[in-house]
Amino acid sequence: MTECLYLQKKSRMSKLLIVGTVAFDAIETPFGKTDKILGGAATYIALSAAHFGIDSSVVSVIGEDFPEKYLDLLRDRNVNLDALEVVKGGNTFFWSGKYHNDMNTRDTLDTQLNVLADFSPNVPEAYKNSEIVMLGNLHPAVQMSVIDQVNNPQLIVLDTMNFWMDSELELLKKVIARVDVITINDEEARQLSGEYSLVKAARKIRDMGPDYVVIKKGEHGALLFHNEEMFFAPALPLEEVFDPTGAGDTFAGGFAGYLAKTKDVSFGNMKNAVIYGSNLASFCVEKFGTERMLELEQGELERRLKNFQALTQFEINLA
Ligand code: AMP
Repeated sequence: MTECLYLQKKSRMSKLLIVGTVAFDAIETPFGKTDKILGGAATYIALSAAHFGIDSSVVSVIGEDFPEKYLDLLRDRNVNLDALEVVKGGNTFFWSGKYHNDMNTRDTLDTQLNVLADFSPNVPEAYKNSEIVMLGNLHPAVQMSVIDQVNNPQLIVLDTMNFWMDSELELLKKVIARVDVITINDEEARQLSGEYSLVKAARKIRDMGPDYVVIKKGEHGALLFHNEEMFFAPALPLEEVFDPTGAGDTFAGGFAGYLAKTKDVSFGNMKNAVIYGSNLASFCVEKFGTERMLELEQGELERRLKNFQALTQFEINLA
């Protein structure tokens, strides 16, 4: 894990296919409020995964109202946008949320599917053989269609949220049955499984299909489950937390990006992926929306990765 993956050459690049919303968000936290800003699950995933120098492509949909300058932010980071459909006269997916004082919980104030409601995705030929497929949060029908279009990837990772559990549970369960890894937050894991204990919840969710379950617990870190094994990564205690929006997606982007980079999908390497994902997510929350991710530099990432290591390593003498 101490190896500097970020600086490796791009010559051994593997492909990461990213699915998810590209969106407008309006966010309210105890520290302030934003108007419509750049957001979306696929946006955060792509910005996070871009730090691994892999070849990534976003499958999603936007309306004509989406500013070109936002797309340039992704293009500048070598994110392929051939499969980002633009609907003439359409409005982009919009989400608005308000965080409670603890910053760990939030209420969704509005979700407008807009162009997402009729979206039928087309995976570009060049990405049908992607090693890793990251199914970010959006309609399970779109996630399912992407699974049907790809050729035997090394790993399919799924992220979803309570919105889809409430509205499309049966279809979502069919998607869950076809993926290798699911990343989900603690409340959603409880909702999906009907279990309060996260250990029992993870077991029930693994019975639904995925071999690996990652449960994100916000400022309390993340848990990785596989068979009877369990791994815990803390979240780095931060001085400033302004806006948790996108932290889960940024985590997922770091997790999938690291696995695409290393091409090793063993449980041992997934532990590293959880740390890389947590490290990236720790930056995301420091400013509103995507702001911090857009200015994030490799040196900062590497320094904080070392902080993570120091935080969790200790020597113990048996008394
Ligand atoms: P996170 O904070 O990681 O859960 O992700 C927040 C991002 O998810 C925001 O940028 C939203 O645009 C996006 N989002 C919110 N609700 C949904 C939904 N129902 N489906 C897909 N993406 C969503």
